[in-house]
Amino acid sequence: MKGRLIPWLVGTMCVAMLVVVAVQVSWLESSAELRKEAFDQSVEQSLQLVATWLSAGHLDRADEDPNVLRTNELGALERSIVRRMEALPMDSLLMLALAEQGIAAEPVYGAFDRYSQPVFLPESSEAFQEDLLTRGYSVAIANLQFRIQFPNLGRYLLGQMLGAFALSVVMMLLIAGIFGYTLYAIQRTKRLDKLQRDLVNNLTHELKTPISSIGLASEAILDPGFDDEAKKHYLHLIREENKRLGVLVENVLRASLSESGAMRLYVQSLNLHDLIKGVVKNMAMQFHKQGAKVELELNASNPNLVGDKIHLTNILFNVIDNAMKYAKEDPHVVIRTTQTPDGLSLDIQDNGVGIAREHLGKVFERLYRVPTGNVHDVKGFGLGLSYVKNVIERHGGTVNLTSRLGEGTTFTFTLPFESQPTTTDTA
Ligand code: ADP
Repeated sequence: MKGRLIPWLVGTMCVAMLVVVAVQVSWLESSAELRKEAFDQSVEQSLQLVATWLSAGHLDRADEDPNVLRTNELGALERSIVRRMEALPMDSLLMLALAEQGIAAEPVYGAFDRYSQPVFLPESSEAFQEDLLTRGYSVAIANLQFRIQFPNLGRYLLGQMLGAFALSVVMMLLIAGIFGYTLYAIQRTKRLDKLQRDLVNNLTHELKTPISSIGLASEAILDPGFDDEAKKHYLHLIREENKRLGVLVENVLRASLSESGAMRLYVQSLNLHDLIKGVVKNMAMQFHKQGAKVELELNASNPNLVGDKIHLTNILFNVIDNAMKYAKEDPHVVIRTTQTPDGLSLDIQDNGVGIAREHLGKVFERLYRVPTGNVHDVKGFGLGLSYVKNVIERHGGTVNLTSRLGEGTTFTFTLPFESQPTTTDTA
């Protein structure tokens, strides 16, 4: 169940979201219908008001000439109403009547006789004559039909609901976003948990060997049966194993300090080329053992910069050591520097096993090791590169990595002449 919790959560959340979306959509639909009904009613009331205004104080229907009603001529009442429409500022009048009902949509309008012929049609409404007759709202004023229509009705009603609609969308996006982030955080914690477990297993394994070697060697020294030469050999072995333990503890400590931000940089003027040559010289034995060819292309014209000598030496060692650890037959390492406008660029290129594209972004993460199945032929804790990235970035520089599986890897670092003041001290 534990392993299936996340897919189960995602499934439930998706179903819940779909239900919420469906409810929202149907709620918006009925809300739109209600709004339309309320709008229709308000328009009808406004029209009644307009009709009252237009027919107020006019001739009575009784004055109508019965002969006129049988022709398409207008009666006296209708004529006087049309005259009134022409004389009055109908635009403002209509807007006023609509505003009274809380409507701000702009109408087109006209008056038609009983044969649907326009008797009053402002220029702006001419294009909508057909619409007015088929879809308009109407009110009878004597024998005339006063009709209005809202060409932008859909947009107007939508605009009124936009607030509620936008709020629902924003809320749903927010919920989905928070859910996504929570899932991401859970996954991240799970991954870190696994990495931490791997580290402990790895460390225990790494510690066991020197501890048992030291134990065996000290027993041998205490054994009177061994001569001085043999004891010296065992003492030497204890010293070597002790050194190994020291390096191990140092590495873990350094990485955890750099990660927690407690790493301090003690900056001083230094020459990067000298630093590189020093590290390469110290690693000469290792290169020799593995038959590695190391080429220096120190092209930068000004290799002087201000930085932390110890940390920069450590990272050079880490990256070159990785080039050796992840080498194939005939290792070949090129260390190249070039000048940049504000500092130096350093490439460390190898022809080793390379890193698959999907792991490129992750190797700088703490505890990340490229998975190799269950075979751990190369020792390590996945701490080196996260330390390297930390140190370079604390110097105000950048790290970059290009690699092709089976062909090799190039790490590119840039370092400014002066490291940023903010990066020099974060106690
Ligand atoms: P590790 O202790 O595992 O070497 P690092 O942080 O130094 O930890 O490196 C992280 C991972 O990146 C390594 O486990 C390895 O898979 C990969 N890696 C690092 N450097 C190289 C390289 N030069 N060539 C191929 N893979 C490398």
